[in-house]
Amino acid sequence: MDINLIYFLIFFFPISFCDCIKFYNYTLYRGIPVDAKHLEYFQNLTEVEYVNFWRLPGRLFKPVDLVVDPEHKELFLKEANNLGLYITTLIEDVQKAFDKQSVKQYIRRKMESFDWNDYYRLNDIYEWLRDLANTYPTEMKVNTIGRSHENREILAVEITLKGSKMRSKVIVEGGIHAREWISPAFVTYFINELIHAPYSNDTEFKDIAMTYEWFFVPVLNPDGYEYSHTNNRMWRKNRNQMGSVDLNRNFDHAFGTTGVSFRMSSDTFCGLRAFSEPESQAMASFIESKSQQLEYYFAFHSYGQYMIMPYANLKAHVENFDTVYKMCSEAKTKIAEKYNTAYTIGTAFDTVGYMTSGVSGCWVKAKLRVPYVVTFELRDSGYHGFSLPPEKIRPTCLETMDGVLSLLKPRTKTYARLEGKYNYDSGVTTNRQIT
Ligand SMILES: [Zn+2]
Repeated sequence: MDINLIYFLIFFFPISFCDCIKFYNYTLYRGIPVDAKHLEYFQNLTEVEYVNFWRLPGRLFKPVDLVVDPEHKELFLKEANNLGLYITTLIEDVQKAFDKQSVKQYIRRKMESFDWNDYYRLNDIYEWLRDLANTYPTEMKVNTIGRSHENREILAVEITLKGSKMRSKVIVEGGIHAREWISPAFVTYFINELIHAPYSNDTEFKDIAMTYEWFFVPVLNPDGYEYSHTNNRMWRKNRNQMGSVDLNRNFDHAFGTTGVSFRMSSDTFCGLRAFSEPESQAMASFIESKSQQLEYYFAFHSYGQYMIMPYANLKAHVENFDTVYKMCSEAKTKIAEKYNTAYTIGTAFDTVGYMTSGVSGCWVKAKLRVPYVVTFELRDSGYHGFSLPPEKIRPTCLETMDGVLSLLKPRTKTYARLEGKYNYDSGVTTNRQIT
Protein backbone atom coordinates (compact mmCIF):
# COMPACT_ATOMS: atom_id res chain seq x y z
CA MET A 1 0.00 0.00 0.00
CA ASP A 2 1.19 3.49 -0.81
CA ILE A 3 2.81 5.08 2.24
CA ASN A 4 0.87 8.30 1.77
CA LEU A 5 -2.35 6.37 1.76
CA ILE A 6 -1.37 4.72 5.07
CA TYR A 7 -0.67 8.11 6.62
CA PHE A 8 -3.94 9.33 5.22
CA LEU A 9 -5.83 6.44 6.80
CA ILE A 10 -4.08 6.75 10.17
CA PHE A 11 -4.50 10.49 10.51
CA PHE A 12 -7.76 11.22 8.82
CA PHE A 13 -9.88 8.15 9.28
CA PRO A 14 -10.88 8.84 12.90
CA ILE A 15 -11.57 12.48 12.17
CA SER A 16 -13.56 12.19 8.99
CA PHE A 17 -15.71 9.32 10.22
CA CYS A 18 -17.03 10.50 13.55
CA ASP A 19 -19.21 7.95 15.25
CA CYS A 20 -21.43 10.59 16.85
CA ILE A 21 -24.74 9.22 17.97
CA LYS A 22 -27.90 11.24 17.61
CA PHE A 23 -31.01 10.39 19.56
CA TYR A 24 -33.82 11.57 17.29
CA ASN A 25 -37.08 9.94 18.26
CA TYR A 26 -35.57 8.16 21.22
CA THR A 27 -38.05 8.53 24.07
CA LEU A 28 -37.51 8.92 27.80
CA TYR A 29 -40.11 6.90 29.69
CA ARG A 30 -40.87 6.53 33.37
CA GLY A 31 -42.30 3.43 34.92
CA ILE A 32 -43.12 2.85 38.55
CA PRO A 33 -42.77 -0.78 39.56
CA VAL A 34 -45.53 -1.80 41.97
CA ASP A 35 -45.03 -5.52 41.66
CA ALA A 36 -42.01 -7.87 41.86
CA LYS A 37 -42.49 -8.89 38.24
CA HIS A 38 -42.25 -5.23 37.17
CA LEU A 39 -38.91 -4.94 38.91
CA GLU A 40 -37.71 -8.14 37.35
CA TYR A 41 -38.71 -6.85 33.92
CA PHE A 42 -36.72 -3.64 34.41
CA GLN A 43 -33.76 -5.60 35.75
CA ASN A 44 -33.76 -7.71 32.61
CA LEU A 45 -33.88 -4.60 30.45
CA THR A 46 -30.59 -3.43 31.98
CA GLU A 47 -29.00 -6.22 29.92
CA VAL A 48 -30.29 -5.12 26.52
CA GLU A 49 -28.54 -2.58 24.34
CA TYR A 50 -31.58 -0.71 23.02
CA VAL A 51 -32.37 0.73 26.45
CA ASN A 52 -30.39 3.38 28.32
CA PHE A 53 -31.31 3.84 31.95
CA TRP A 54 -31.37 7.35 33.36
CA ARG A 55 -32.62 6.08 36.68
CA LEU A 56 -31.95 2.47 37.52
CA PRO A 57 -34.52 0.09 38.96
CA GLY A 58 -34.19 -0.40 42.70
CA ARG A 59 -37.06 -0.91 45.07
CA LEU A 60 -40.78 -1.09 44.50
CA PHE A 61 -42.50 2.27 44.00
CA LYS A 62 -39.24 4.04 43.09
CA PRO A 63 -39.48 5.53 39.59
CA VAL A 64 -37.38 4.03 36.82
CA ASP A 65 -36.43 6.31 33.91
CA LEU A 66 -35.23 4.84 30.67
CA VAL A 67 -34.60 5.88 27.08
CA VAL A 68 -35.76 3.48 24.39
CA ASP A 69 -34.63 3.68 20.76
CA PRO A 70 -37.25 4.26 18.04
CA GLU A 71 -37.18 0.67 16.76
CA HIS A 72 -38.02 -0.85 20.15
CA LYS A 73 -40.53 1.62 21.58
CA GLU A 74 -43.54 -0.36 20.38
CA LEU A 75 -42.17 -3.61 21.80
CA PHE A 76 -41.35 -1.96 25.12
CA LEU A 77 -44.79 -0.38 25.51
CA LYS A 78 -46.48 -3.67 24.59
CA GLU A 79 -44.45 -5.69 27.09
CA ALA A 80 -45.04 -3.12 29.81
CA ASN A 81 -48.75 -3.13 29.07
CA ASN A 82 -48.88 -6.92 29.28
CA LEU A 83 -47.31 -6.75 32.73
CA GLY A 84 -49.76 -4.07 33.88
CA LEU A 85 -46.87 -1.65 34.21
CA TYR A 86 -47.96 1.95 33.91
CA ILE A 87 -45.62 3.99 31.70
CA THR A 88 -45.52 7.75 31.21
CA THR A 89 -43.58 9.67 28.58
CA LEU A 90 -41.17 12.22 30.03
CA ILE A 91 -39.42 13.34 26.83
CA GLU A 92 -40.83 12.38 23.45
CA ASP A 93 -37.66 13.18 21.49
CA VAL A 94 -34.50 13.11 23.58
CA GLN A 95 -32.31 14.61 20.83
CA LYS A 96 -34.52 17.69 20.60
CA ALA A 97 -34.07 18.18 24.37
CA PHE A 98 -30.29 17.75 24.08
CA ASP A 99 -30.17 20.25 21.21
CA LYS A 100 -31.49 22.92 23.58
CA GLN A 101 -28.44 22.51 25.84
CA SER A 102 -26.42 25.32 24.34
CA VAL A 103 -22.66 25.02 24.64
CA LYS A 104 -20.82 28.32 24.70
CA GLN A 105 -17.18 29.13 24.07
CA TYR A 106 -15.07 30.84 26.65
CA ILE A 107 -12.87 33.66 25.34
CA ARG A 108 -9.46 33.61 26.95
CA ARG A 109 -8.87 36.32 29.58
CA LYS A 110 -12.41 37.58 29.13
CA MET A 111 -13.75 36.32 32.43
CA GLU A 112 -17.28 37.52 31.72
CA SER A 113 -17.50 35.20 28.71
CA PHE A 114 -17.85 32.32 31.18
CA ASP A 115 -21.22 32.21 32.86
CA TRP A 116 -23.89 29.91 34.24
CA ASN A 117 -26.41 30.34 31.44
CA ASP A 118 -24.74 27.82 29.14
CA TYR A 119 -22.64 24.68 29.28
CA TYR A 120 -18.94 24.53 28.33
CA ARG A 121 -16.49 22.06 26.84
CA LEU A 122 -13.62 20.75 28.97
CA ASN A 123 -10.93 23.05 27.57
CA ASP A 124 -13.07 26.12 28.12
CA ILE A 125 -13.61 25.12 31.75
CA TYR A 126 -9.87 24.52 32.16
CA GLU A 127 -8.88 27.81 30.49
CA TRP A 128 -11.35 29.70 32.63
CA LEU A 129 -9.95 28.07 35.78
CA ARG A 130 -6.40 29.02 34.77
CA ASP A 131 -7.40 32.59 33.97
CA LEU A 132 -9.20 32.87 37.30
CA ALA A 133 -6.11 31.57 39.12
CA ASN A 134 -3.98 34.13 37.26
CA THR A 135 -6.35 36.86 38.45
CA TYR A 136 -6.08 35.70 42.08
CA PRO A 137 -2.56 34.21 42.25
CA THR A 138 -2.23 34.29 46.04
CA GLU A 139 -5.63 32.77 46.77
CA MET A 140 -6.10 30.23 44.00
CA LYS A 141 -3.94 27.53 42.48
CA VAL A 142 -4.64 25.05 39.70
CA ASN A 143 -2.71 21.78 39.74
CA THR A 144 -2.73 18.63 37.64
CA ILE A 145 -3.42 15.68 39.93
CA GLY A 146 -3.20 13.02 37.25
CA ARG A 147 -4.11 12.10 33.72
CA SER A 148 -7.00 10.22 32.20
CA HIS A 149 -6.89 7.19 29.91
CA GLU A 150 -6.74 9.48 26.91
CA ASN A 151 -4.05 11.55 28.62
CA ARG A 152 -6.22 14.54 29.49
CA GLU A 153 -5.30 16.46 32.61
CA ILE A 154 -7.35 16.08 35.76
CA LEU A 155 -7.24 19.50 37.35
CA ALA A 156 -7.64 20.37 41.00
CA VAL A 157 -8.28 23.87 42.28
CA GLU A 158 -7.00 24.97 45.65
CA ILE A 159 -8.40 28.08 47.30
CA THR A 160 -7.22 29.64 50.53
CA LEU A 161 -8.38 33.17 51.11
CA LYS A 162 -6.13 35.83 52.58
CA GLY A 163 -6.32 35.81 56.38
CA SER A 164 -8.18 32.50 56.36
CA LYS A 165 -8.49 30.54 59.61
CA MET A 166 -7.83 27.27 57.75
CA ARG A 167 -9.63 25.39 60.47
CA SER A 168 -10.04 22.29 58.29
CA LYS A 169 -10.40 21.15 54.68
CA VAL A 170 -13.23 20.71 52.21
CA ILE A 171 -12.99 18.63 49.04
CA VAL A 172 -15.54 19.02 46.25
CA GLU A 173 -15.78 16.42 43.48
CA GLY A 174 -17.55 17.07 40.17
CA GLY A 175 -17.99 15.43 36.81
CA ILE A 176 -17.29 11.80 37.71
CA HIS A 177 -20.21 10.84 35.46
CA ALA A 178 -19.82 12.29 31.97
CA ARG A 179 -23.41 13.12 31.01
CA GLU A 180 -24.26 14.92 34.26
CA TRP A 181 -23.30 18.33 32.87
CA ILE A 182 -24.87 20.30 35.69
CA SER A 183 -22.22 18.88 38.05
CA PRO A 184 -19.12 20.66 36.61
CA ALA A 185 -21.35 23.70 36.05
CA PHE A 186 -22.18 23.87 39.74
CA VAL A 187 -18.61 23.20 40.86
CA THR A 188 -17.29 26.07 38.72
CA TYR A 189 -20.03 28.27 40.18
CA PHE A 190 -18.94 27.27 43.70
CA ILE A 191 -15.31 28.19 42.86
CA ASN A 192 -16.35 31.53 41.42
CA GLU A 193 -18.46 32.40 44.46
CA LEU A 194 -15.71 31.43 46.84
CA ILE A 195 -12.93 33.39 45.18
CA HIS A 196 -15.14 36.50 45.28
CA ALA A 197 -16.23 35.93 48.89
CA PRO A 198 -13.89 38.62 50.32
CA TYR A 199 -15.87 41.22 48.35
CA SER A 200 -19.26 39.88 49.44
CA ASN A 201 -21.64 41.77 51.72
CA ASP A 202 -22.87 38.50 53.13
CA THR A 203 -20.85 38.22 56.35
CA GLU A 204 -22.01 34.69 57.11
CA PHE A 205 -20.85 33.47 53.70
CA LYS A 206 -17.59 35.38 54.05
CA ASP A 207 -17.01 33.76 57.41
CA ILE A 208 -17.54 30.25 56.04
CA ALA A 209 -15.28 31.00 53.06
CA MET A 210 -12.53 32.09 55.49
CA THR A 211 -12.94 29.06 57.74
CA TYR A 212 -11.68 26.32 55.43
CA GLU A 213 -9.02 25.35 52.99
CA TRP A 214 -10.83 24.45 49.77
CA PHE A 215 -10.13 21.85 47.09
CA PHE A 216 -12.14 21.22 43.96
CA VAL A 217 -11.91 18.67 41.18
CA PRO A 218 -14.50 20.04 38.75
CA VAL A 219 -14.21 17.32 36.08
CA LEU A 220 -12.90 14.02 37.45
CA ASN A 221 -13.81 12.18 34.24
CA PRO A 222 -12.44 14.53 31.53
CA ASP A 223 -12.46 11.92 28.71
CA GLY A 224 -16.04 10.95 29.39
CA TYR A 225 -17.12 14.58 29.67
CA GLU A 226 -15.59 15.41 26.29
CA TYR A 227 -17.05 12.27 24.76
CA SER A 228 -20.51 13.29 26.00
CA HIS A 229 -20.03 16.54 24.05
CA THR A 230 -18.53 15.12 20.86
CA ASN A 231 -19.87 11.60 20.39
CA ASN A 232 -22.55 10.40 22.75
CA ARG A 233 -24.57 12.77 24.94
CA MET A 234 -25.72 9.85 27.13
CA TRP A 235 -22.19 8.66 27.96
CA ARG A 236 -21.61 8.02 31.69
CA LYS A 237 -18.31 6.17 32.21
CA ASN A 238 -14.64 6.86 31.51
CA ARG A 239 -12.99 6.00 28.17
CA ASN A 240 -10.95 2.92 28.95
CA GLN A 241 -10.67 1.23 25.54
CA MET A 242 -10.42 -2.20 27.18
CA GLY A 243 -13.86 -1.70 28.71
CA SER A 244 -15.03 1.64 30.02
CA VAL A 245 -15.58 1.85 33.76
CA ASP A 246 -18.11 3.59 35.98
CA LEU A 247 -15.60 5.51 38.10
CA ASN A 248 -18.08 5.85 40.94
CA ARG A 249 -18.09 2.06 41.30
CA ASN A 250 -14.30 1.76 41.16
CA PHE A 251 -13.25 3.04 44.61
CA ASP A 252 -11.99 0.63 47.21
CA HIS A 253 -15.04 0.48 49.43
CA ALA A 254 -17.02 -2.79 49.39
CA PHE A 255 -15.75 -3.04 45.82
CA GLY A 256 -17.80 -5.18 43.48
CA THR A 257 -20.22 -6.36 46.16
CA THR A 258 -23.54 -4.77 45.24
CA GLY A 259 -25.22 -2.62 42.58
CA VAL A 260 -22.49 -3.09 39.99
CA SER A 261 -22.03 -5.05 36.82
CA PHE A 262 -19.05 -7.11 35.74
CA ARG A 263 -20.15 -6.85 32.15
CA MET A 264 -17.85 -4.37 30.40
CA SER A 265 -20.63 -2.96 28.24
CA SER A 266 -22.80 -2.18 31.26
CA ASP A 267 -23.21 1.43 32.37
CA THR A 268 -22.29 0.36 35.92
CA PHE A 269 -19.24 -1.79 35.07
CA CYS A 270 -17.05 -1.42 38.16
CA GLY A 271 -13.74 -2.44 36.57
CA LEU A 272 -11.71 -5.58 37.18
CA ARG A 273 -10.40 -4.39 40.54
CA ALA A 274 -10.71 -1.39 42.84
CA PHE A 275 -8.75 1.62 41.62
CA SER A 276 -8.03 0.00 38.26
CA GLU A 277 -8.57 3.35 36.54
CA PRO A 278 -6.14 6.29 36.37
CA GLU A 279 -8.94 8.76 37.19
CA SER A 280 -10.06 7.04 40.42
CA GLN A 281 -6.43 6.43 41.38
CA ALA A 282 -5.53 10.08 40.86
CA MET A 283 -8.51 11.18 42.94
CA ALA A 284 -7.73 8.75 45.76
CA SER A 285 -4.09 9.88 45.95
CA PHE A 286 -5.17 13.48 45.90
CA ILE A 287 -7.70 12.96 48.70
CA GLU A 288 -5.18 11.00 50.77
CA SER A 289 -2.66 13.82 50.40
CA LYS A 290 -5.27 16.20 51.89
CA SER A 291 -6.66 13.83 54.52
CA GLN A 292 -5.23 15.71 57.50
CA GLN A 293 -8.06 17.80 58.96
CA LEU A 294 -10.33 16.81 56.06
CA GLU A 295 -13.78 17.58 57.39
CA TYR A 296 -16.11 17.66 54.36
CA TYR A 297 -16.36 15.71 51.16
CA PHE A 298 -19.04 16.65 48.65
CA ALA A 299 -19.69 14.92 45.34
CA PHE A 300 -22.03 16.39 42.75
CA HIS A 301 -24.12 14.34 40.37
CA SER A 302 -27.46 14.54 38.66
CA TYR A 303 -30.32 13.92 38.73
CA GLY A 304 -33.10 13.30 41.25
CA GLN A 305 -32.71 16.02 43.92
CA TYR A 306 -31.24 13.83 46.61
CA MET A 307 -28.71 14.30 49.38
CA ILE A 308 -27.21 10.84 49.69
CA MET A 309 -25.27 9.87 52.78
CA PRO A 310 -22.92 6.93 53.29
CA TYR A 311 -22.96 4.03 53.12
CA ALA A 312 -24.29 3.16 49.69
CA ASN A 313 -23.71 -0.57 50.27
CA LEU A 314 -25.76 -0.74 53.48
CA LYS A 315 -29.40 -0.50 54.42
CA ALA A 316 -28.48 0.35 58.00
CA HIS A 317 -27.87 3.88 59.23
CA VAL A 318 -24.47 3.74 60.86
CA GLU A 319 -21.90 5.99 62.53
CA ASN A 320 -22.92 9.67 62.63
CA PHE A 321 -25.86 9.18 60.26
CA ASP A 322 -28.28 11.03 62.56
CA THR A 323 -26.03 14.08 62.84
CA VAL A 324 -25.48 14.34 59.11
CA TYR A 325 -29.17 13.70 58.49
CA LYS A 326 -30.01 16.68 60.66
CA MET A 327 -27.49 18.85 58.83
CA CYS A 328 -28.98 17.77 55.50
CA SER A 329 -32.51 18.53 56.73
CA GLU A 330 -31.48 22.10 57.47
CA ALA A 331 -29.82 22.32 54.05
CA LYS A 332 -32.99 20.95 52.45
CA THR A 333 -35.02 23.76 54.06
CA LYS A 334 -32.54 26.34 52.80
CA ILE A 335 -32.67 24.95 49.26
CA ALA A 336 -36.48 24.92 49.22
CA GLU A 337 -36.64 28.55 50.37
CA LYS A 338 -35.30 29.78 47.04
CA TYR A 339 -37.41 28.06 44.35
CA ASN A 340 -39.31 25.39 46.26
CA THR A 341 -37.01 22.65 44.95
CA ALA A 342 -37.71 19.52 46.98
CA TYR A 343 -34.86 17.28 48.09
CA THR A 344 -34.97 13.82 49.66
CA ILE A 345 -32.34 12.72 52.19
CA GLY A 346 -30.97 9.32 53.14
CA THR A 347 -28.68 6.50 52.11
CA ALA A 348 -28.66 5.30 48.50
CA PHE A 349 -31.12 2.60 49.51
CA ASP A 350 -33.44 5.15 51.15
CA THR A 351 -33.34 7.61 48.26
CA VAL A 352 -32.70 6.09 44.85
CA GLY A 353 -33.84 2.71 46.11
CA TYR A 354 -30.83 0.55 45.31
CA MET A 355 -27.55 -0.21 47.03
CA THR A 356 -24.24 0.20 45.33
CA SER A 357 -20.53 -0.12 46.02
CA GLY A 358 -17.13 1.32 45.14
CA VAL A 359 -18.51 4.83 45.62
CA SER A 360 -15.99 7.66 46.16
CA GLY A 361 -17.65 9.28 49.19
CA CYS A 362 -18.05 5.95 51.00
CA TRP A 363 -14.34 5.24 50.58
CA VAL A 364 -13.50 8.70 51.89
CA LYS A 365 -15.64 8.24 54.98
CA ALA A 366 -14.71 4.64 55.78
CA LYS A 367 -11.01 4.86 55.08
CA LEU A 368 -10.11 8.43 56.01
CA ARG A 369 -12.73 8.90 58.74
CA VAL A 370 -14.03 12.12 57.24
CA PRO A 371 -17.09 13.05 59.30
CA TYR A 372 -19.28 14.86 56.77
CA VAL A 373 -19.73 13.23 53.40
CA VAL A 374 -22.68 14.06 51.17
CA THR A 375 -23.38 13.16 47.54
CA PHE A 376 -25.78 15.52 45.83
CA GLU A 377 -28.01 14.48 42.99
CA LEU A 378 -28.82 17.90 41.57
CA ARG A 379 -31.85 18.93 39.49
CA ASP A 380 -34.19 17.89 38.32
CA SER A 381 -36.62 15.20 39.43
CA GLY A 382 -36.95 13.76 35.93
CA TYR A 383 -38.82 16.21 33.74
CA HIS A 384 -35.62 17.06 31.84
CA GLY A 385 -33.19 14.61 33.43
CA PHE A 386 -29.74 14.91 31.89
CA SER A 387 -31.08 17.34 29.30
CA LEU A 388 -31.49 20.06 31.92
CA PRO A 389 -32.01 23.27 29.92
CA PRO A 390 -29.37 26.02 30.23
CA GLU A 391 -31.79 28.47 31.86
CA LYS A 392 -31.99 26.09 34.82
CA ILE A 393 -28.24 26.13 35.46
CA ARG A 394 -28.15 29.39 37.40
CA PRO A 395 -31.17 28.67 39.64
CA THR A 396 -29.74 25.21 40.35
CA CYS A 397 -26.41 26.79 41.32
CA LEU A 398 -28.05 29.43 43.53
CA GLU A 399 -30.20 27.03 45.52
CA THR A 400 -27.47 24.38 45.82
CA MET A 401 -25.05 26.98 47.12
CA ASP A 402 -27.54 27.83 49.89
CA GLY A 403 -27.75 24.17 50.82
CA VAL A 404 -24.01 23.63 50.77
CA LEU A 405 -23.33 26.71 52.90
CA SER A 406 -25.85 25.50 55.43
CA LEU A 407 -23.98 22.18 55.66
CA LEU A 408 -20.69 24.03 56.08
CA LYS A 409 -21.72 26.06 59.08
CA PRO A 410 -19.11 25.06 61.67
CA ARG A 411 -20.69 23.15 64.53
CA THR A 412 -17.58 22.89 66.64
CA LYS A 413 -14.63 25.18 67.22
CA THR A 414 -12.11 22.58 66.26
CA TYR A 415 -12.11 19.84 63.71
CA ALA A 416 -12.87 16.33 64.93
CA ARG A 417 -12.45 13.32 62.71
CA LEU A 418 -14.85 10.43 62.83
CA GLU A 419 -13.78 8.09 65.58
CA GLY A 420 -13.50 4.33 65.44
CA LYS A 421 -12.64 2.03 62.64
CA TYR A 422 -15.05 1.05 59.89
CA ASN A 423 -15.81 -2.65 60.04
CA TYR A 424 -15.91 -3.84 56.46
CA ASP A 425 -17.91 -6.97 57.31
CA SER A 426 -20.77 -5.49 59.25
CA GLY A 427 -20.53 -1.89 58.15
CA VAL A 428 -20.61 -0.96 61.80
CA THR A 429 -17.93 1.14 63.36
CA THR A 430 -16.15 -0.20 66.37
CA ASN A 431 -15.43 2.10 69.31
CA ARG A 432 -17.36 5.20 70.20
CA GLN A 433 -18.73 7.34 67.42
CA ILE A 434 -18.97 11.07 67.33
CA THR A 435 -22.45 12.42 66.93
ZN1 LIG B 1 -23.76 10.38 38.72
